Amino acid sequence: AKANGRSHFSFFSDEMNQLAQERLALETALREALQQRTLTLHYQPQINLESGRLHGIEALARWHHPTFGNVSPMRFIPLAEECGLIGQLGQWALEESCRQLAAWRRAGLDVPAISVNLSPTNFHNLELTRYINDTLSEHALAPRDLTLEITESVLLDTNPSTLRTLNEVHAQGIGLSMDDFGTGYSSLGYLRRLPLDELKLDKIFVHDMEHDETALALTHAVIRIGESLKMTVVAEGVETQAQRELLEQQGYKVAQGYLFSRPLAPEQMEDWLRRTVD
Ligand code: C2E
Ligand code: CA
Ligand code: CA
Ligand code: CA
Repeated sequence: AKANGRSHFSFFSDEMNQLAQERLALETALREALQQRTLTLHYQPQINLESGRLHGIEALARWHHPTFGNVSPMRFIPLAEECGLIGQLGQWALEESCRQLAAWRRAGLDVPAISVNLSPTNFHNLELTRYINDTLSEHALAPRDLTLEITESVLLDTNPSTLRTLNEVHAQGIGLSMDDFGTGYSSLGYLRRLPLDELKLDKIFVHDMEHDETALALTHAVIRIGESLKMTVVAEGVETQAQRELLEQQGYKVAQGYLFSRPLAPEQMEDWLRRTVD
């Protein structure tokens, strides 16, 4: 029995060892990718449903590694958070988005604004507001050219500088958007405390609304909340014409999803802009 127990133990410990080694290898590779700036951003248009025009563009991080292949942000964003790289990743995403937006504008492409995803930890940085302002002015951009997408997990963050930084950023005229709205936090009271300009209806509700009355009721509720609070509401994950029509009937004015375009590499996004924007 004793020998048996030991072999079980070593079996699991080998497996854990292998997982730990894989994780460490991925962490080392991510650190390197950030240093060498080999991560990229893909861009997904947000469409004004009434005018058909571009409302803005969301920047989404991508990582292609020579041996690991394409690593999903669902994997490397949490990893970056765990190993202290998320600050660096956030700064890179801000900088690269601003650089790209400015380059498109110089090329005569009319891109109204860019949205960048930030993690709660990014708001621990007391220099964030200054960093953003420096980056904006370096690229001759205005605060309203930039929207920061945050998630309801910022509310679980007890770091006192988070709310302060959010207020600072908002006071500068930079947009603040609540991503994945409706999935995370159980109370709506935070809508009074956070200086939000935009709500993004989570794609799970869009996905389910045609077949699930509760999901449909929630899409209804979210647009009413947004209207009452004078916030922009973006429906994400719109994949079909039927979803688009249902959302429009409910009053949604801005949408994002595969129906319009997948997230695109910079050159593809540029082609899309030339084809689509008058
Ligand atoms: P998110 O911010 O909620 O981004 C939307 C996700 O939905 C993206 O996945 C996008 O590719 C995908 N998507 C877009 N349209 C559709 C659609 O019509 N149908 C479906 N099913 N999906 C659609 P992605 O690019 O894999 O990103 C996953 C998550 O990783 C993001 O979710 C965001 O939370 C995080 N992320 C990505 N880039 C960054 C970044 O630069 N910084 C931080 N902190 N997080 C990031
Ligand atoms: Ca987002
Ligand atoms: Ca989302
Ligand atoms: Ca998300």
